[in-house]
Amino acid sequence: VKVFLDRVYATYHRKEWLSSDPLEFVHRYADPLDQEVVGLLSALFAYGNVIQIRRTVETILERITSTGQSPSHLVRLWNLKGGHSQADLFKGIIHRFHTGRDIAGLLALIAESHKQYGSVAQHFAQYASEGMSSALSLFIRDWKAWIPKLGLSRRVGPQFTHLLSAPDDGSVCKRWCMFLRWMVREDELDPGTWKKLWGSAPALTPDQLVLPLDTHTGRISQYLGLTSRKSLNWKAALEITEALKFCDPKDPVKYDFALARLGILDLCQKRFRVEICEKCELLPVCRFARAKGATRSA
Ligand code: SF4
Repeated sequence: VKVFLDRVYATYHRKEWLSSDPLEFVHRYADPLDQEVVGLLSALFAYGNVIQIRRTVETILERITSTGQSPSHLVRLWNLKGGHSQADLFKGIIHRFHTGRDIAGLLALIAESHKQYGSVAQHFAQYASEGMSSALSLFIRDWKAWIPKLGLSRRVGPQFTHLLSAPDDGSVCKRWCMFLRWMVREDELDPGTWKKLWGSAPALTPDQLVLPLDTHTGRISQYLGLTSRKSLNWKAALEITEALKFCDPKDPVKYDFALARLGILDLCQKRFRVEICEKCELLPVCRFARAKGATRSA
């Protein structure tokens, strides 16, 4: 599997495919604190179809730019100036079941992390030694506890906590794992933002990350036999990440972006298409296609 995954990685883990991913928005900013804020907003609203995601994140960033502040500067001023008085900044934005009120709520939580710890990176670092499942759950537990404390309960929408799903709920936490991949890995695609904020003592290393499991990466992982689980939940994400450590023990989630491209670019479809599968780099190790009778040796 490693041989074939490495081929997919070499083909698709490249900047030329960046425009098909919300990570593109993070690349527009050089300051690590701006990257952190934009990364959170881009990752947490990365559900729904690609066009809708792009439109929502573009609109959020345009509204932030219209204030004359950088994203991190706006966050630092947010609670000082009474974020609720600025909530109109995102008025009219609707992303499926979230609205501008939820965007304002997120900025308030990011602002509180900044106020208490200096950055979201430093806040997360408090829990990093607990292992990813506990660290992410503890971090999100803090944010949920701050909702009433910051007076957000009646200001955010009823689906706000859908943005704050955690491993201890059993949730797959795809969007958080994707954000963490962007922040912790560093190469031509992943900016490694938190390495810059943590300095010489990184709180997390790439081998501690968990694969952001979505419908595409989950389905292809099942085809490759990386998991036998039918439900794509947190346990499945952990199991697939462990399996990927046989391919790269220090950096198992490096395959995420490339595997996701197969689904996002419609190169691997939910049903068997011989004309597509016969060209796929993964065919020699894809149990699904081979069960359907597709053949091609390595
Ligand atoms: S061989 Fe076909 S089904 Fe298997 S991963 Fe490739 S495109 Fe998808």
